[in-house]
Amino acid sequence: MESAVLTAINRIHHTGIVVRSVEQAYGFYRDALGLRLVKEAVMEDQGVRAALLDLGNSFLELLEPIGGETGIARFLETRGEGLHHVCMEVDDIRASLAELKLQGVELIDEEPREGLTGTIAFLHPSALHGVLVELVEKGSGV
Ligand code: ZN
Repeated sequence: MESAVLTAINRIHHTGIVVRSVEQAYGFYRDALGLRLVKEAVMEDQGVRAALLDLGNSFLELLEPIGGETGIARFLETRGEGLHHVCMEVDDIRASLAELKLQGVELIDEEPREGLTGTIAFLHPSALHGVLVELVEKGSGV
């Protein structure tokens, strides 16, 4: 057996869902399900309007493309609305990225960056059997 992986995953921090309209999606996620809106933000540089809804011990992140040739816009165009990524919480994102890289995991973000939910980085879905995974550092944001 290989030695134990040091990348400590604490929990699923949030699940990212691409929607055509955050405003319309509130009709189900906020109003019908009764989930509390934690924050909403427009991230111009990423071409996305994002909203975070409280699920108790994790969150739902709604992502709406707001123009431009972004990954989220392409996703909506080619695959429609739906599940986009899973975000896992780690204690130390730099340590986790360094260790995953050492193990040959392909990274989208070599360096952590600031996102809606804190200090984040994406791993390449090819490394994760087709699932886009985001890491977020514990205590760095929401
Ligand atoms: Zn996310």
